[in-house]
Amino acid sequence: MSISSVVRRASRFQDLLAIPGGDGPYVFTRMFREGNGRERRRSRRHFKLLKRVDGTLRELVQPNEKVVFLTRAWGLSFWEQWVLGWRRAVVLTDCRAIFLQLDAGRRPAFLHRQVAYGAIATASGGRRGEVQVGTRGGDKLKLRGIRRVDRVAVVERLRNAAKANRGAQAALETETLCPYCHKGLSGRPRSCPSCLKDFRKGWLSALSSLLIPGLGDYRVGYRAFAVLELLTAVAIWAAYLVGPGVWGMPGLHVLGPEWVFTAVHGGDAVLTWRVVRSGIFLSGMA
Ligand SMILES: [Zn+2]
Repeated sequence: MSISSVVRRASRFQDLLAIPGGDGPYVFTRMFREGNGRERRRSRRHFKLLKRVDGTLRELVQPNEKVVFLTRAWGLSFWEQWVLGWRRAVVLTDCRAIFLQLDAGRRPAFLHRQVAYGAIATASGGRRGEVQVGTRGGDKLKLRGIRRVDRVAVVERLRNAAKANRGAQAALETETLCPYCHKGLSGRPRSCPSCLKDFRKGWLSALSSLLIPGLGDYRVGYRAFAVLELLTAVAIWAAYLVGPGVWGMPGLHVLGPEWVFTAVHGGDAVLTWRVVRSGIFLSGMA
């Protein structure tokens, strides 16, 4: 599906509201509201987000699927939010919620997730301002960082959609979308059952990072993070090797170099393994 020229040309959300039938998958009259000042500000935020994710979203949605709401959340986990710096665009369609990965520069990346409305057992607002979603398969999802006004809307829409889709044929838990063909994947398969592409193995990336800290992360695309890991490792090695001579810290050599290797390289390998396990990566990625 091509990028929407309607969305690209629009400079304000009001331009889209003027198209009564919507465009492609978008039902603009449900996505934006020209009400009071607060609703307009909210619509402006959603419009900016739509501009960023339009191309990606159009590739993902099915031919008859309709997009009715979108907003932004922090990452879906501690790792996404704090280690990798990801955010998520939360997109509600008429049959599922899609969580688009936004990279540290807030651009759409490739690790998207979804939950079908038929899979949702509970949706509620948590005490710390998060949206909690429970699936019939036992998954628990916490969407943090959604603005309050959008949070209320998300909880209400998920609840209503879950009720309306009870008993519908759907996967019972959240699924990762294949980065290549965008079909939902249950668990962490080694390859995509639909397009047969292989995914990168977590242990292989961990091994790369064991040899050179950061290498495993670099190879799956987290370059800034990888450089940070490498610099940290170099700094620790430098302190260990020259510290006693330069700063007179003989205590450093109580531990042999194999201990430093285990702590620094081993620790980084575990970190890389966690990062790669947090998503599915195509094997051929640089
Ligand atoms: Zn696939």
